[in-house]
Amino acid sequence: MENNIDASKVLVIDDEQSLRDGAERILTRMDFQVEKASTGQEGLEKLKTFPAAIVLLDMKMPGMDGMEVLKRITIMDKGIVVIVITGFATVETAIEAMKRGAYDFIPKPYEPDQLRIVVDRARETILLKINTEELLMERTQNLSDLQTEQSRVHTIIESLPNGVLVTDTEGEVVLINPAFCMHMGLARDAVTGQKLEEYIADEKLCRLVTDISKGKYIDYDDIPSCDVEVSEGKHLMARARPVLGDKRECLGAVVNLADVSAMKALDQLKSEFVAKVSHELRSPLSTIHEQLALVISEMTGEDSTAEEEQHILARAKEKTRGLITTISDLLDLSRIEAGISASNPQPVKVDELLKSIVEFLNARAQAKNQTITLDISAETFTPVVSDKMSLESVYGNLITNAINYTQDGGEIKVTAGMSGRNVRVIVQDNGFGIDEKYLDKIFDRFYRVKNNKTRFITGTGLGLPIVKGIVDSLGGIIDVESEPGKGTVFSVILPTR
Ligand code: ADP
Repeated sequence: MENNIDASKVLVIDDEQSLRDGAERILTRMDFQVEKASTGQEGLEKLKTFPAAIVLLDMKMPGMDGMEVLKRITIMDKGIVVIVITGFATVETAIEAMKRGAYDFIPKPYEPDQLRIVVDRARETILLKINTEELLMERTQNLSDLQTEQSRVHTIIESLPNGVLVTDTEGEVVLINPAFCMHMGLARDAVTGQKLEEYIADEKLCRLVTDISKGKYIDYDDIPSCDVEVSEGKHLMARARPVLGDKRECLGAVVNLADVSAMKALDQLKSEFVAKVSHELRSPLSTIHEQLALVISEMTGEDSTAEEEQHILARAKEKTRGLITTISDLLDLSRIEAGISASNPQPVKVDELLKSIVEFLNARAQAKNQTITLDISAETFTPVVSDKMSLESVYGNLITNAINYTQDGGEIKVTAGMSGRNVRVIVQDNGFGIDEKYLDKIFDRFYRVKNNKTRFITGTGLGLPIVKGIVDSLGGIIDVESEPGKGTVFSVILPTR
């Protein structure tokens, strides 16, 4: 139906003027706009300019009769509703008219109510039809919008510089873009529909994506990323996430693949540079440090000028010690970055290691009148398999910090025990403490809490990042609790393997 007919307009075609006028009166009261025509020809002419949705049509008219007019209106195919008006004698004609597409008929002579009821029903039918048609158009419009949206998303995915791959719950690939094919060295127009292994050679990534596709990671916030070295110097970083439906059911997995080769190369260059510079600086500094110590010891017992010089030299010696610590930290850090922390794994007995560290650092604590106690609470310790120097670095850093950040005369307690199959070490002090707002920052590189108490304590801000790096690489956990003015507790749990 074309929508240029108007449900509020009625055309009355009748050769009898009294009937035309009577119908007009009734229909006008029903809020219709009414036009009249006395012949079929005139009626058809009127319809060209007056878009009536309803036509009241007398069947028996001189000239063109109602049946012919009905036929022509039907041919127009505008959805005009025709109600025929006919005398008793011509009921058969009315039925014939209905067959030819008239909507209803009213026998002559009719009561006003009869006309009202039939026309009202016709109006309802038209409005319903218009309404249905509008809904249909809206739906068609929505569908075409959807199609445009889909093709737009498709084009964007195809043009992304990052690789994208999508699987279903069976781990079968349902979408792959050209960048993914390019990064992974697949044919640019690789088709979908095959198992994941056909597209991803890296076993670890393949396993991760399969697990995600099967819904194993739905509630994970931090799904690990995967480094893939596809060829010498070409590093890709793959991140995968589950694709969730309306009810959070898993529909598959989506993988994003980025080329991080340039970043990796730069990172490696930086680490190599730090390692090299640190090495170059450490040996001459150590020599200067030793020489200063020698000069100072030889000067002992001399006159006051010498005392002054001795003071200056002692400060210089202190500075060189600070520099040596910094450089050692930098070296440790680059060792962790290069993955050397576990390069020389051997079973290490933590209780014995702690005894020697505490013994070594006791002198430092004593210099500040601090007491340092070691409480070994387990009969036997399962060894931790690790590079010994790394473990020394973990516990050494924590105990050194406890000494440094505790006032003279303070107490440092080191407790070691087994917790299930893990080794747990707690380093507790009653020193300056750390404000809660800094607790998650102290593990960041070069981060140091600066306040009146800590301002004059030398350090690099690298100790705790090193400790955390090593603990993480061993699959352990480090925790800290602290209260300013009361003290700090660091606990390290390491698995025994
Ligand atoms: P550094 O000791 O060289 O500054 P760290 O990374 O070892 O670097 O420590 C970072 C910061 O954490 C320190 O500057 C200090 O403010 C704080 N901190 C570490 N351990 C303690 C502790 N036991 N008590 C109070 N503050 C601490």
